Amino acid sequence: MTKASGSAWLDGRIVPLSEARVPVSDRGFLFADSVFETVRTYDHVPFLVGDHLDRLRRSAKKLMLPVPWSDQKLVDVVAGLLADWSAGEEAVLRIMVTRGEGGHGIALPEPQIPRLVVLCRPLAVLSRELYERGVKVVLPSATRGKDHAVPADVKSGSYLANVLALAEARSQGGFEALLRGADGSISEASTSNLFLVKNGTLLTPGIGDHILPGITRSLVLLLARSMNLIVSEEPITDFQLLSADEVFLTSSLKEVLPVHSVGDHVVGRAGPGPLTSELMEAFASRARELSSQAVMRLSEALPS
Ligand code: PLP
Repeated sequence: MTKASGSAWLDGRIVPLSEARVPVSDRGFLFADSVFETVRTYDHVPFLVGDHLDRLRRSAKKLMLPVPWSDQKLVDVVAGLLADWSAGEEAVLRIMVTRGEGGHGIALPEPQIPRLVVLCRPLAVLSRELYERGVKVVLPSATRGKDHAVPADVKSGSYLANVLALAEARSQGGFEALLRGADGSISEASTSNLFLVKNGTLLTPGIGDHILPGITRSLVLLLARSMNLIVSEEPITDFQLLSADEVFLTSSLKEVLPVHSVGDHVVGRAGPGPLTSELMEAFASRARELSSQAVMRLSEALPS
């Protein structure tokens, strides 16, 4: 198996990624009729996989998409892929459930026979330089947020709005694209959640503010509260963004990534601010600690 490129669990067996094939009649391919989760490993342990599975089920429920596999089965599939993985390298798992095949046109098939696909690929770690200097983010010209037909808290396969926003940001030298919610506030980024620091307060859009409830975001909020920071979850305006002292992004693959500039506007004094740096360090060490204890859900790690 060419482990350098990865492997896939598909229709009950593990195959090299390059050989994994889904029929073109799968509704995931035809209509983006699917949900997914991206999970990374720390020391080869999938990080907070229970929280990812919970979110996968919540997303699927909103799309009336059955997920007939138990958590144990899904965890076993992931473990099987990781056992097959070359030691020494961290992996990224993409757990996908599509609505499978069938249905007249776009009508839901009866019965629904969903398809599970899990990909396991090498983790591409971002360069140190990006963390040391921060990245540029761009506010796309069009009001692009995730498809409004699919609520932002659903991690569906329908990422085209985010794909186009990121393409626009990249064409302007940006690393990430910010997105607006249906209310016009700045909600998140194409594959990240957004945080600001203003006068020592940590601000981030709340769960109802057109965001994907990020798992990294939850841990960052937990850490911030344990550090006795004042935290406010509220919709973010353009003014707040442009007057912030510090800005950073969070995601499973980026962890805590400082933002250096928003378009041509330099944030604060540029480079990671003091609270961002503190949270970067706290996140990195807590994530490894939780993984070493094989914690599957953040709720297990909460003080009772
Ligand atoms: N927001 C969007 C739109 C995303 O796609 C992602 C991750 O891919 C996130 C936020 C961050 O979520 P998490 O921290 O669970 O990776």
